[in-house]
Amino acid sequence: MIARPLVTKIKLELRDKSHALIKHGVVPSLKVFLIGNHLPSITYTQNKKKFMDEIGAKCEILHLAEDVKAENLIALITKQAKDSSVHGLFVQLPVPKHLQDIDLKSLIPAEKDVDGFHPKNLINVMSNLNMSETLVACTPKGVMGLLEHYNISLSGKFVVIIGRSMIVGKPLFHLMTNADATVVLCHSKTNNLRDLTRKADIIVCALGKAKFLDESYLGETRPVIIDVGINYDANKKLVGDVDFESIKSKVSAITPVPGGIGPMTIASLAQNLIQAATHLKGIL
Ligand code: NAD
Repeated sequence: MIARPLVTKIKLELRDKSHALIKHGVVPSLKVFLIGNHLPSITYTQNKKKFMDEIGAKCEILHLAEDVKAENLIALITKQAKDSSVHGLFVQLPVPKHLQDIDLKSLIPAEKDVDGFHPKNLINVMSNLNMSETLVACTPKGVMGLLEHYNISLSGKFVVIIGRSMIVGKPLFHLMTNADATVVLCHSKTNNLRDLTRKADIIVCALGKAKFLDESYLGETRPVIIDVGINYDANKKLVGDVDFESIKSKVSAITPVPGGIGPMTIASLAQNLIQAATHLKGIL
């Protein structure tokens, strides 16, 4: 299940929407706070900016020093949050330790929260209400989009998600439950994980452990595998949480790394930006 055909389609749709907004005098604008010199974060933010450039949206990366003071960061975020020409903003995670207690959710208003972490957006996802006005967390949104693109229905399916983070596992649990799947959310303290994965119709791996899911986790179900993981092996090669080569003949579909959920996450961010700009300006 490669992402490219869907990402290309989304990009064209968003380019049209972005041009329509620009005709109405609104240039969709995203501000990204990048703190320090964490190399993967620099790459991710550059990739996000490239996508925004390609759809005609504005994306500015505000690159701050590793030792930026918490009060300075808060003041900068607050300024962007209040600026009516800015439609979306987020802080690239992870942030340095001394900034980890800042409550970003209270600084970035729900309607500009293109990462989908604001309580209002999360409650809508949990309750399956007001979804057309909700900014959904990008990676879970990308997973749902890719499944839909490949006509993989969730209704009645047994799904095992490995990883319970607020960024991936928890929002995805709700989105999939809302789509009528029976979902089990697993984590590092789950006992007998294999007993669950061996029965699953769909397995989502979002734990951050290179090549964790191998054939020992599979039963006779020929599941669909969604690999969210981004890891680097000993040769600094990008690999997912799934041992792709060992299981590819035993599954009915699988997302590759790279080329699967990563690009879908960026496309979802761009969808959220255009949605936020459209909604904030009350046009189209
Ligand atoms: P996290 O580090 O916040 O959480 C990891 C989760 O995995 C935890 O819930 C933990 O309990 C669980 N876990 C760890 N070891 C386990 C084990 N042995 N068995 C079962 N569960 C275990 O993770 P995160 O931020 O959600 O990221 C997970 C992975 O997804 C990382 O590789 C990250 O880089 C990647 N990621 C990719 C994208 C993307 O765009 N493709 C987006 C977000 C995260």
